[in-house]
Amino acid sequence: MRHAAVSIDLDGLGCYYRIHALGTPPAELEHVILERALPRAAALFASRKLHVTWFVIARDIEHAPNAERMKTLATAGDELGNHSYSHPYELARLSAPQVDNEITRAHQLLSKLAPIRGFRAPGYDVSPAMLDTLARLGYRYDSSVFPAPGYYAAKAAVMAGLAALGRPSGAVLTNPRALAAPADPYRPSMTAPWRRGQAPMVELPVAVTPWTRVPAIGTSLLVAPAWLRTRLVAAMGKREFFNLELHGIDFADAEKDGIPGELVERQPDLRIPIDDKLDRLDRVLDDVAQRWPFATLGEVAAEVQRER
Ligand SMILES: [Zn+2]
Repeated sequence: MRHAAVSIDLDGLGCYYRIHALGTPPAELEHVILERALPRAAALFASRKLHVTWFVIARDIEHAPNAERMKTLATAGDELGNHSYSHPYELARLSAPQVDNEITRAHQLLSKLAPIRGFRAPGYDVSPAMLDTLARLGYRYDSSVFPAPGYYAAKAAVMAGLAALGRPSGAVLTNPRALAAPADPYRPSMTAPWRRGQAPMVELPVAVTPWTRVPAIGTSLLVAPAWLRTRLVAAMGKREFFNLELHGIDFADAEKDGIPGELVERQPDLRIPIDDKLDRLDRVLDDVAQRWPFATLGEVAAEVQRER
């Protein structure tokens, strides 16, 4: 098994407002990521004939034009994945019936557009209750584990800073046990998803480099200088699988899309013009393509399920 897979979490602007404790974004920007950023991402992947996995917050497709957009991509050969119904960052801390409701409700809505086989938890926080629901729905994979201690530490620092200012972040720290999880695909334990076990579905961890476990995800690749981008991809070369995770916001342009300054101030990636970001990502994809053949997460999961 040697593959790279590109996935894009379609978190709306409201998610970032919650993380940075900014309240709610202007109403007219509710769907800006799907309306303006997603078409740019789709055009880049189509130009490379690259099929990707879009993790959709199901509530967003209750807005008919969004459902239409996602259906068009699925028809063209992309995979759609379940990113919960309403993206609660605290999903792993909710009761089992609440977790089941979030995932099942999303599954029902998304299944109207395409077959759904995979899940990514909001904020990378997977829990045993989530795996129970995924098993019941017959999912092939979960792709939520992100074993990156540096990322965890940075997030904890930002959250502590906001809390000290009396403006608690909407983000939630993942269970620290997940930091020691395997970084290559594995069959998780149903009762401790960050450990190996006998679950019917497989876990496809989000990319971190070998040894140092530096995140090799879109946002960190986009803000890194060129030499570091190349080094990160080269370091990943030792891994059999490169699960390259991007976010819809990586394809936003602060100026062209009218993203408010209060958010741009807090997200360095939003200060890079879209043409630069597209160019950087194109070069990252060139580098990745030299080392791994691309597949969707669903295809990778099917192969891992057969092998282990
Ligand atoms: Zn998300």
